Amino acid sequence: MSTVSAYAATSATEPLTKTTIKRRDPGPRDVAIDIKFAGICHSDIHTVKAEWGVPNYPVVPGHEIAGVVTAVGSEVTKYKVGEHVGVGCMVNSCRECSSCQAGLEQYCKKGPIFTYNSIDRDGTPTYGGYSQAVVVDEDFVVRIPDSLPLDKAAPLLCAGITLYSPLRHWKAGPGTRLAIIGLGGLGHVGVKLGKALGAEVTVLSQSLKKMEDGLRLGATGYYATSDPATFKKLRSSFDLILNTVSANLDLGKYLNLLDVDGTLVELGIPEHPMPVPAFGLALARRSLSGSNIGGIAEAQEMLNFCAEHGVTPEIEVIAPDYINEAYERVLASDVRYRFVIDISAI
Ligand code: NAP
Ligand code: ZN
Ligand code: ZN
Repeated sequence: MSTVSAYAATSATEPLTKTTIKRRDPGPRDVAIDIKFAGICHSDIHTVKAEWGVPNYPVVPGHEIAGVVTAVGSEVTKYKVGEHVGVGCMVNSCRECSSCQAGLEQYCKKGPIFTYNSIDRDGTPTYGGYSQAVVVDEDFVVRIPDSLPLDKAAPLLCAGITLYSPLRHWKAGPGTRLAIIGLGGLGHVGVKLGKALGAEVTVLSQSLKKMEDGLRLGATGYYATSDPATFKKLRSSFDLILNTVSANLDLGKYLNLLDVDGTLVELGIPEHPMPVPAFGLALARRSLSGSNIGGIAEAQEMLNFCAEHGVTPEIEVIAPDYINEAYERVLASDVRYRFVIDISAI
């Protein structure tokens, strides 16, 4: 066992504070990783604030992990000391169910073991990336291509795969009229990925204040959802809408923006349920779906795609003692577009 520094939440209302946690010695199939950067995902905030149920405090959040391999177990074949690697939202799954067999570990029938706030196979709580080091089974580690800097690669481990997976599943490409709701951490990566895949991307943001950025990132349309005219003008305009908003929306208004047979995919996971008007679905054979991160092989494919197409998130690198202020700024939609913690300063 080793002892490493970390930032943890001890309750829903207290700020995160510096502490220490234990990491296991690498077993035969484990990779030990020196964490260099960890992104701040809105899911970290939902979790520590107990918006998804009361978590198992202390919570060390962080599932956008980029680092360097420092040791490998005797049976590890995929990674070597010194290589750049990433860890996303999962550190294990049952590996036997039909989802796991299909490379959809995120939909493991027994529930994947998440990177934090889960119970690991050895019965200990999992702790995430706001920490100096982590030890993970090699099958849940991905390689970060050399052309991606580690700080910009970190957010791809959650925000990147969460957008890439539905874009691929719903076959976004040339001719797809795609809308992204919310230009935050997830949304801005979605604009870049959508463009790289050849789709025609429109951003639906609360206001026009980030419009210049949205167009620079690759959107060709940008509309304020605070303006009722937006919903009249864009009625029946899209094949695919990805909702990345962390709060409740009036889903009926957005369903009406889909053309016949269009699909609205829920990526944001707000605290409270949202009513769904049946008319919005029935009158144009529309679908409402959801999507959760992506599988491990797909995460590797996404990283390779980002390296090949030059897709990197826009980040603000922060020191660990700025985490609590960063949380406040995420909640105020005041981030362009992902906070990434410089773990070397912990
Ligand atoms: P984020 O950076 O805070 O972005 C969310 C965006 O939603 C904001 O930038 C804002 O965009 C918009 N928004 C916020 N509050 C709003 C409100 N009251 N009304 C309308 N729009 C609002 O968060 P994130 O890290 O991208 O995560 C977004 C959501 O996805 C969270 O719920 C998170 O837990 C979830 N998530 C899901 C998965 C998955 O696998 N499904 C993975 C990661 C995260 P504008 O300023 O442009 O309006
Ligand atoms: Zn996340
Ligand atoms: Zn499984």
